[in-house]
Amino acid sequence: MDMRSLIDRYGGKLNPRVMSVVLKLMKSIPSVKKKVEKEYETILRELEGFVKPYKDRSVAFSHIPEIGWNRDRILEEMEELRSIEESKWRDGFVSGAVYHGNEDHIDFLNRVYAINSQSNPLHSDIWPSAFKYESEIVSMTANMLGAKRITDQEICGVVTAGGTESILLAMKTYRDWARNKKGIKKPEIVVPSTAHAAFDKAAQYFNIRIIHVPVDGDYRANVVETGKAITQKTIALVGSAPSFPHGIIDPIEELSELAKERGIGFHTDACLGGFVLPWAEKLGHDIPPFDFRLPGVTSISADTHKYGYAAKGTSVILYRGQELRHYQYFKATEWPGGLYFSPTFAGSRPGALSAMCWAAMVKMGENGYTEATDKILKTAAEIRKGIERISDLYVLGNPLWVIAFGSETLDIYRVMDYMTKRKWSLNGLHKPPCVHICVTLRHTLPAVSERFLNDLRSAVAYVRENPDEKGGMAPVYGMAASIPDRSIVADLLERYIDLLYRV
Ligand SMILES: *Cc1c(COP(=O)(O)O)cnc(C)c1O
Repeated sequence: MDMRSLIDRYGGKLNPRVMSVVLKLMKSIPSVKKKVEKEYETILRELEGFVKPYKDRSVAFSHIPEIGWNRDRILEEMEELRSIEESKWRDGFVSGAVYHGNEDHIDFLNRVYAINSQSNPLHSDIWPSAFKYESEIVSMTANMLGAKRITDQEICGVVTAGGTESILLAMKTYRDWARNKKGIKKPEIVVPSTAHAAFDKAAQYFNIRIIHVPVDGDYRANVVETGKAITQKTIALVGSAPSFPHGIIDPIEELSELAKERGIGFHTDACLGGFVLPWAEKLGHDIPPFDFRLPGVTSISADTHKYGYAAKGTSVILYRGQELRHYQYFKATEWPGGLYFSPTFAGSRPGALSAMCWAAMVKMGENGYTEATDKILKTAAEIRKGIERISDLYVLGNPLWVIAFGSETLDIYRVMDYMTKRKWSLNGLHKPPCVHICVTLRHTLPAVSERFLNDLRSAVAYVRENPDEKGGMAPVYGMAASIPDRSIVADLLERYIDLLYRV
């Protein structure tokens, strides 16, 4: 059986539910199962070249070398791989990913890493500096996000390993809080369909039911439908400021009021916007309230490793009140290994990353963040205007610096493929099919936005002339959209991760 031709032939015609049952039944037959596996293998082999570009270039170790290599050889090898990879993000071809990237900034943070490379906050007696840095990161972030205007409730938090960990911890905290305070044993969260996948991950990991509410025509969370989705078991609502896919700020004020009325938690996911929106507001942009100045907001995630310009591996989760934070902590009082506690998921942690984060924040200062935000918003406005002038494209919603665009006339994934050939690395999105560019400081360098718009205009012209070209990622997106049985798509993703781990 050729899975793709089967899908091509029947995918659009059969009732998705029927198709799903048929496929599931078929996959349970051993001979079919074997053929399906073979089909997966064929698809993955086509991707292998992209995923493993160094296969023939560098030595691959499946075993520890019998005799250790000398340091120079290792460094040489790594320098070579870096030289291949660096220009793409350094010269501003990449959406998101590297948010600052200036050489002097990187050199400075590398020095900070070197100074603190042995630090582990788990041993706070040996490295009290680690908690000096972390407590100050939390305080600086809280005060940036409205804490200083609050008199009756203390805003507190912890440093985590990234946005996903911040979100996972917040959802675990609400689960345990609701179980203890309200006796909720089968917890539910209500999130906009555009909320980050980390909320789905939290739901899966912690046995929380997640209800996705479709967003409005302008890609903002739907307050009325969110209200209807709340039940006796709801522990928290979620809104993004802004959302990862389309860069749209949800109506946080209305959503958090709704949560407050119902006596449940409200999490603002400001992973992307936490270190941009406060400065944008200061610069006079019209930013709807999203932080602790809203009384219904009970937690916020803000990523220092995005627009905080720290190295990858830190984020901040903030809570309204110590009580909530206590539900996050882990304590073991009876372990033979001693009295044990840890605030986050990890045990031992890289204290050097927190030191780098602290150093990045103190080095940037309000002036540095404001200046960076100004540059990013100006560049993003140019890019947005440029996209809107291309007749075959449209911009989704009313974004500030993450600009998603689609097309009603062209296959947008073919436009993305053309951009990929021109060295661009953009984010492909679906539901609806579109592509986004998340503007960073890399795009504020001279001529980068012009180059983007020139290449995009060429891409659109090319796809208009050659609508049926083969290859690239467009068929993958097309196939993923046409497969009614989502477990096949999930299987493929699983095999893709396996492929990443192949030596
Ligand atoms: C990046 C992001 C996250 C997740 O962050 P990671 O650091 O990748 O774990 C969550 N929410 C939003 C809106 C984001 O942009």
